[in-house]
Amino acid sequence: SYRKGGYHAVRVGDPFNSGRYIAQRKLGWGQFSTVWLAYDTHSSKFVALKIQKSAAQFTQAALHEIEVLSVITNGDPSNSNCVVQLIDQFKHSGPNGQHQCMVLEFLGDSLLRLIRYNRYKGLKLNKVREICKCILTGLDYLHRELGIIHTDLKPENILLVSTIDPAKDPIRSGLKPIIERPECNLNGGSTMSIIEKKLKRRARNAVAKISGRRASMGGALQNSERCLDGIDMRCKVVDFGNACWADKQFAEEIQTRQYRAPEVILRSGYSFSVDMWSFACTAFELATGEMMFAPKDGQGFGEDEDHLALMMELLGKMPRKIAIGGAQSKEFFDRHGDLKRIRRLKFWSLDRLLVDRFKFAETDAKEFAEFLSPLLDFTPEKRPTAQQCLQHPWLNLSSSTGKKMTNEADVENLDAGMSKLHV
Ligand code: ATP
Ligand code: MG
Ligand code: MG
Repeated sequence: SYRKGGYHAVRVGDPFNSGRYIAQRKLGWGQFSTVWLAYDTHSSKFVALKIQKSAAQFTQAALHEIEVLSVITNGDPSNSNCVVQLIDQFKHSGPNGQHQCMVLEFLGDSLLRLIRYNRYKGLKLNKVREICKCILTGLDYLHRELGIIHTDLKPENILLVSTIDPAKDPIRSGLKPIIERPECNLNGGSTMSIIEKKLKRRARNAVAKISGRRASMGGALQNSERCLDGIDMRCKVVDFGNACWADKQFAEEIQTRQYRAPEVILRSGYSFSVDMWSFACTAFELATGEMMFAPKDGQGFGEDEDHLALMMELLGKMPRKIAIGGAQSKEFFDRHGDLKRIRRLKFWSLDRLLVDRFKFAETDAKEFAEFLSPLLDFTPEKRPTAQQCLQHPWLNLSSSTGKKMTNEADVENLDAGMSKLHV
């Protein structure tokens, strides 16, 4: 993709926007862009520099994202609403064309990486609560104050906020700005994320313990779990490339598959409540380490129908009116509101799933299921708004024990996936 119309190749030390920003290291990439950690010589702060592919459709997409981000930033000058802020934007010419660039506040690891670092075991419920409050604060701001629907909420698009400011505390954060292009060192400085560092340190300690005192493997696992304890779980919603306004929508098919609401599959029209559905899927994944719905196509049925089946197996049968009410309903449902190709459903329930499969304590499971269930109502209008959800008592509970720790065997079994339920 590093050709005409594609990505811009960046080297450590490259200057951008007349030398204001200096590239430090690559943070990530997506379908549209590469994202670099850059040093802002005006503010003496680190920023995230998103460099779009140069073809016309990518520039168009970037301009849309900038429009949404500008509304977000202008509406929240105090930067307290748990949504990423746009700092600057400009064009950069390179061998592959002209690239629209966005300068965003520099954030940390995504929740997806957090789930992976925690070995897909799920986070303690107190951590999940903290994260949920941030996401809901962001959604409430977007929905109620700005009329924006994110349409692609998922763990990958929620980034942790670094509690250490690397510019103010370069030694603790291990970040020293590179101001000039290094002669031959393309690696740049060591700019590991905070979680990466903590885990490395813990892993080293664990190994030292094992070799020194023959500690059990369980000890090492507990260490990696505990290593998140010191991290303040604040986060922000990012990636507004697909966002739209409730009264100005661009696409019928929105959201990443596993986080997609039923009304989107059925083409019944959508609104803010699609984000609430994705939020519930995200919260579940944080707490369990596993996706709530991972549909696959099978013999004689497609991914969409599998997805609808999985939803009903966990949440109960879809009301007939909702099932047959979408432009695509006839593809999947007969006139009684039963699926056409997947006839035998194996009903479960959210709280049983949490206890039986994820080894939640009974009360934890019941309370968490009571929090999630209303957000997963098949009738979109019945789902609580972000504002209402913020009032839910579950967010202010505190478990002294946290979720029961799973053991290693459980971690391995998590691969199984829930899509096998009705096979
Ligand atoms: P997508 O295909 O997901 O739409 P994209 O090209 O629009 O991709 P983003 O998702 O915005 O790009 O960013 C790509 C990656 O860069 C993210 O997954 C994340 O790892 C990193 N990233 C993005 N924004 C920031 C930020 N503000 N701070 C730190 N890292 C970031
Ligand atoms: Mg993304
Ligand atoms: Mg994007």
